[in-house]
Amino acid sequence: MNSQISLIQQIDALLPQTQCGLCGHRDGCLPYAQSIAQGEAANKCVPGGQPVADALAQLLNREQLVAEESVWAIQSDGRPQRMKAIIREDECIGCTKCISACPVDAIIGSGKLMHTILTDLCTGCELCIPPCPVDCIDLVEDTQAIPDELHRIAEQDDLRQRYYSHIQREEKRRIHRKGPVVRAEIDTQLFAQFSTQIQELPSIQLSDKSPESTPTIDAKTTIELAKLRTQIKKLEKQLSVRMDEKKQIQLNELQQQLSALQS
Ligand code: SF4
Ligand code: SF4
Ligand code: SF4
Repeated sequence: MNSQISLIQQIDALLPQTQCGLCGHRDGCLPYAQSIAQGEAANKCVPGGQPVADALAQLLNREQLVAEESVWAIQSDGRPQRMKAIIREDECIGCTKCISACPVDAIIGSGKLMHTILTDLCTGCELCIPPCPVDCIDLVEDTQAIPDELHRIAEQDDLRQRYYSHIQREEKRRIHRKGPVVRAEIDTQLFAQFSTQIQELPSIQLSDKSPESTPTIDAKTTIELAKLRTQIKKLEKQLSVRMDEKKQIQLNELQQQLSALQS
């Protein structure tokens, strides 16, 4: 078990930590690292390109595979072009949807106010683009110098830490339902389990409350409940003035519908 955790950790250390999901693992680098340790091909990290595919093949003593192709041109270090997202701020309506979509918390802003991307932190993962209702986020080429190995490792460590903090915050939001949660739900349990095994990672506290145990009523049900209550009140009023058998039956039916919806 410990050797498996250590292998997953070594694999994860080679992955770029942009958490983009382009490898087919929605929740980012760690689930892909786990799957590679269980035998999945190690050439699917798109931002990592050929250097990451080769480093993984070497670590795992597997044959070298051609890396999954990127839509971006290849840089001098063999990896795809680094990108950054930029918000066209005069078009931003401050809906906050991009904030919870960003895995590394690189976007600042609050409700109804213009939002800004902290360019240094942005990895160009593109996850903030689909949720934006006014399509005001662009991707541009990163013009900063390509980081050397030392800087890359430091950057990856920082992104990993930021992602764990993001997961912890989203876990709290999921329970308390504050603001829009745009990204598909993250498998928090996997990250929490991993964070207990590795000292350098921020610990993730799982909430006792599962989403199923949180009572929630969707908008459609709320409207239906309001309609039923109005009809019931109207009938009760009419029946208090004059008894009517048909209306009494109708009232009983509506009351049954109301209690069924409420439960
Ligand atoms: S950076 Fe690579 S390993 Fe991480 S989520 Fe993106 S494609 Fe997957
Ligand atoms: S700002 Fe957008 S592109 Fe940049 S890291 Fe966050 S989600 Fe990814
Ligand atoms: S999703 Fe788009 S409109 Fe909404 S806050 Fe973000 S950038 Fe602005």
